[in-house]
Amino acid sequence: MGVTYRGSAIPRSGQRIPLLTAALHRTCPRCGRAPVFVRYLALVKRCAACGLAIERADTADGPAFFVMFAASPVAAVVGLIMLIGLDLGLWWAFGLTAVLYTGLCVVLLPPTKALMVAIQYKTRPDEFAEPATPETAPDP
Ligand SMILES: [Zn+2]
Repeated sequence: MGVTYRGSAIPRSGQRIPLLTAALHRTCPRCGRAPVFVRYLALVKRCAACGLAIERADTADGPAFFVMFAASPVAAVVGLIMLIGLDLGLWWAFGLTAVLYTGLCVVLLPPTKALMVAIQYKTRPDEFAEPATPETAPDP
């Protein structure tokens, strides 16, 4: 039986998958055996190995914010180096920086989203639980 309190959680199964391991391998935060994505950023409905309702994780725009926050300074510095240091010219520096920035975002988004799903599972595991079903259906 899991006990949850703000900012921490004790997993029900007793297993602990490190957050970065789940993020880098893009696997289930509970068992670490099945992928969390069915496509590029589309979450699977349930973990194929343990049945965790992964689609209940609502990361919203969080991964995109953090990826842009991390990739923007890198792209800006590299763009300035290309523009000033390498003297590539404005359009070459702009074009290569745009390609670099887009590439960084494309590469960093899946592990960042997997990390946020894992953090959400570690801090609020009750959100992944099945909703309680009423024992008796109401009469019409
Ligand atoms: Zn699992």
